[in-house]
Amino acid sequence: MSCDVAVIGGGLSGLACALRVAMAGKRVVVFERSSEERYPCNSRIATGVFHVAMNSVSLDPRTLEARVREAVGEGARADLVSALCRNAGRAVGWLRESGGAQFIRGGEAPFYDHVLAPSTIGQVGRPWQGKGADVLLGSLEQKLVAHGGRVLRGHAAAELKMQNGRCIGLRGEGFDVAARDVVIADGGYQNDPVQTKKRISPVPERLVQRNARTGCGDGLQMALAAGAALADRGGFYGHLQSRSALTDDRLWPYPWADELARACIVVGSDGRRIADESRGGVYLANRIAALPDPASAWVICDHLAWEGPGAERHTSPNPLLERMGGALQRAPTIEALAAETGIDAGGLAATIADYNAGLPAWPIRKWPFYALPIVPGITYTFGGIAVDGDSRALREDATPLEGLYAAGSTTGGLEGGERFGYVGGLVKAAVTGLLAAEHICR
Ligand SMILES: Cc1cc2nc3c(=O)[nH]c(=O)nc-3n(C[C@H](O)[C@H](O)[C@H](O)COP(=O)(O)OP(=O)(O)OC[C@H]3O[C@@H](n4cnc5c(N)ncnc54)[C@H](O)[C@@H]3O)c2cc1C
Repeated sequence: MSCDVAVIGGGLSGLACALRVAMAGKRVVVFERSSEERYPCNSRIATGVFHVAMNSVSLDPRTLEARVREAVGEGARADLVSALCRNAGRAVGWLRESGGAQFIRGGEAPFYDHVLAPSTIGQVGRPWQGKGADVLLGSLEQKLVAHGGRVLRGHAAAELKMQNGRCIGLRGEGFDVAARDVVIADGGYQNDPVQTKKRISPVPERLVQRNARTGCGDGLQMALAAGAALADRGGFYGHLQSRSALTDDRLWPYPWADELARACIVVGSDGRRIADESRGGVYLANRIAALPDPASAWVICDHLAWEGPGAERHTSPNPLLERMGGALQRAPTIEALAAETGIDAGGLAATIADYNAGLPAWPIRKWPFYALPIVPGITYTFGGIAVDGDSRALREDATPLEGLYAAGSTTGGLEGGERFGYVGGLVKAAVTGLLAAEHICR
């Protein structure tokens, strides 16, 4: 088989890239591992909020750049920050005009101004069928086919073909493809226990896979074998799930305990705090994932916080958690709470005394007291294939690896860092897919 452009993975980044090159008259084939008609991937089950680091994509690029820098801190590649912010609004506009995306306002906050319709906001579980992201993937594929492109399901890419340092195609079981350019868009390595053990958590099986379970790190392995570099600022995008989600699939992606944890305290079995809770759910999820046992943390709060930040959003644990069968301990005293949970009583009492002495907004004083067993839920990994601002895969010496591009969650160098900064998975996928396509066309 031969084509101009071979794309590995049919999520948002892969399909957006494929459609854009097909519209320019190139022969493009998308190789998708899953054989299902509506194959699972993170893009398909996403809530559909297009934002840039929790800001509206419509903000001017300079303001967005400042906000993204604030989120990701030092060490993010400047060209990736700039490419994302300069192209976020344009990519969303392109998805609407050329990809058939329909956007609505999904809520009052400014970052809810571009949500895929029909929206799943306000719903729990994973009601993805017929919802915005699923509809968008269907529309992108339909338009791709109308422009002469193809999506080959049941085709897992396993190896890149290289010649004189240039990528010239790919191989999988039973197929061999010659391509002028190859785009890796396989969605990250969150489902690869070996890679996640090396980079994310000593015990990956104690994390909730808060994702479509399709990101197995194949693209990263293929790229590394071909001579590309790894850009890994560490970490993953994720949230604080109920520990019951380890055994009960109904309990992810919601409820999450992020807002409650941020307002109160998160302790380990010794009763001591684990990290600065005010830095939020993604930060806490990463810090807890790195513990010897990521399923050993608890959110501790009192009755007022449980009724306040604990019930703030439709995704909050109050009242969703118990209604869905998730574990929660409540007790009239801190001593009784420690006895019920097995948390060290002396450690917990000392931690709460210290915490209350700091006059926090949500002191732990009014009974009943609550202990919510939590575990990090991993959505996608931040580290990945090193790319430049045109989504070209880079070698260790930072020169582009001819013929090879990467887009979406399989790329690194932008998110992560000490703050575990998250910029928005959908916007990253759309922008990097589009930029890869445009460089190929040039
Ligand atoms: C529950 C949930 C909610 C989310 N909500 C939001 C949101 O509201 N806003 C937001 O910005 N982000 C959200 N995200 C994150 C966002 O969905 C992802 O970051 C984004 O969709 C990633 O797109 P992608 O194209 O890189 O990867 P994916 O969509 O994961 O696509 C990768 C594809 O590659 C295929 N593949 C893998 N290996 C191979 C191989 N060897 N050969 C061929 N094909 C292969 C996979 O089967 C898959 O179809 C959410 C994620 C989840 C799980």
